[in-house]
Amino acid sequence: PAPLLEVDGLVVEFATSDGVVRAVDGLSWHVDAGETLAVVGESGSGKSVSSLAVMGLLQTPPARVVGGAVRFAGTDLLQLPRAEHRAYCGEHVAMVFQDALAALNPVYTVGFQLTEALVARKGTSRREARRRAIELLDLVRVPSARQRVKEFPHQFSGGMRQRVVLAMALAMDPQVLIADEPTTALDVTVQAQIMALLAEIQAERQMALVLITHDLGVVASVADRVTVMYAGRAVEQAPVLETFHQPSHPYTAALLRSVPRLDGELGDDAELDVIPGRPPELVDLPPGCSFHPRCPRALDLCRVDPPPALRLVGPAQRAACHVAEAQLADSAAEHAAVA
Ligand code: SF4
Ligand code: MG
Repeated sequence: PAPLLEVDGLVVEFATSDGVVRAVDGLSWHVDAGETLAVVGESGSGKSVSSLAVMGLLQTPPARVVGGAVRFAGTDLLQLPRAEHRAYCGEHVAMVFQDALAALNPVYTVGFQLTEALVARKGTSRREARRRAIELLDLVRVPSARQRVKEFPHQFSGGMRQRVVLAMALAMDPQVLIADEPTTALDVTVQAQIMALLAEIQAERQMALVLITHDLGVVASVADRVTVMYAGRAVEQAPVLETFHQPSHPYTAALLRSVPRLDGELGDDAELDVIPGRPPELVDLPPGCSFHPRCPRALDLCRVDPPPALRLVGPAQRAACHVAEAQLADSAAEHAAVA
């Protein structure tokens, strides 16, 4: 059967004063009901741009989808007129962003906004919608929901506000939730609470969750599979265990070394191994593998030849890397020699 939501070979370009920039270059991932996919990358890696493309929210121009498909239950949303694409997502795919304040209207109470959304988009009666608004705030564990529906967004703390945004997203009973850096603006304790809440709701509703983040630390406990992006491309895709225990792409390995150990083995003041260099400018991508100037394992080949798109390098692990592929070939040869 077709995956619930599938991005297939997506290419997004931007017109800039320096010429056309490819922000997403052949990205593919998929997610199924009840599953959590983490899309990980630094800022500028294309992870947000690609999810905006999924939702039909890219500003065109300057952005332009020049290739690929975004299929929901087999229907390519990119083939639909923009308004239909958005309406389709309105019904099936919701998205929450980092900036909760921007997602809410400051002049209306939280209850009013939830109620209006339900009336306008689901045709719920006003009376029923008011009841449902309280239920939704309960669902995202806003205490005293009955009182708090009467309050305005600025009366909520950052964490509570993000819960309200989540309630808005869940109002339509989406089958897929895309959460773009949902906790980045919050302090660490609140981050953990929101992530736990997300995971709980996801499991309860058997929703598909796409978690977009620059932080591999938050991924370990919630994701089933991970897609790592660099400079617009997916460089590794694997189940979460493989991602953490045997990363096959040097960039994934470097990202992992820059995450504080959850078990505290490094101690609080241990120096993190920060990836040397900075992410490349998309207008001026290095030739060959875009990661080569920062890669500790780069070969001469890497400076001239871009590695092919994701290929199997393990039972369920894919990477776009010359060295990862060569290693697979080596171990295959070893097995052959032993046999
Ligand atoms: Fe490093 Fe080469 Fe692999 Fe790129 S292709 S990540 S430069 S080893
Ligand atoms: Mg972003």
